Amino acid sequence: MRLYKYKPKFDVDDVISHAQLSIAEGQTLQRGMNYKVTQDYSVFLMSIRHNAPYADEIDEKNNLIIYEGHDARRDHAENPKTEDQPYFTPKGTLTENGKFFVEAQAYQLGLKKEPHKVKIYEKIKDGIWTYKGFFNLEDAKYVFTGERKVFKYFLKPIEIKKFKQVEEIPFNRMIPTTVKIAVWERDKGMCAKCGATENLHFDHIVPFAKGGTSLTAKNVQLLCMKHNLQKSDRILSFLFFVSY
Ligand SMILES: [Zn+2]
Repeated sequence: MRLYKYKPKFDVDDVISHAQLSIAEGQTLQRGMNYKVTQDYSVFLMSIRHNAPYADEIDEKNNLIIYEGHDARRDHAENPKTEDQPYFTPKGTLTENGKFFVEAQAYQLGLKKEPHKVKIYEKIKDGIWTYKGFFNLEDAKYVFTGERKVFKYFLKPIEIKKFKQVEEIPFNRMIPTTVKIAVWERDKGMCAKCGATENLHFDHIVPFAKGGTSLTAKNVQLLCMKHNLQKSDRILSFLFFVSY
């Protein structure tokens, strides 16, 4: 891999490649759950699973994403899809499931003051990813689904401001994966204004701050960097105008 002088910084809902996200994280991320990519945070990769209606289950009432844990590795289990998701590896060390479970429990029990931070990237389709932002790992459960036991991790969207101040992001600013996939198909992977295919971003047509929703593809479009910036300029000058 080429060496880059600086790491790219993404905005939430930017469209990126897997190579770009690997460069940003300083390593090639292959697994879904990546505990402590740095001392400060971990990374979850999300993608639509087969047989699952949603990649990200959203708990609207509590403003949480519910992320499912991972199956046993194929070399550790005969039927990873029907066996309980493992807490320990055959060697007796914690799996990624186990490490995140311990983090969530430590926070729940008050042993840690701050919840563990998780960055989430989601796969829209092969080679196409978006950055979903930072989340607090608030809780974890090991639940019986009627067939087997799986891990569920409860994550709250946050924004890390200057001086590491953490602010909760209100519900419905997050664009669900299913909506992004629908928008990507509709806009054919191109800027809705000029047809550019580079540096794309999922944009709220009516901004979230003005009551626009994230929950329907009708209010979301793909914009290139230029048209995204033009739009934020327009909104800034509009806000300036109304406040004077
Ligand atoms: Zn454009």
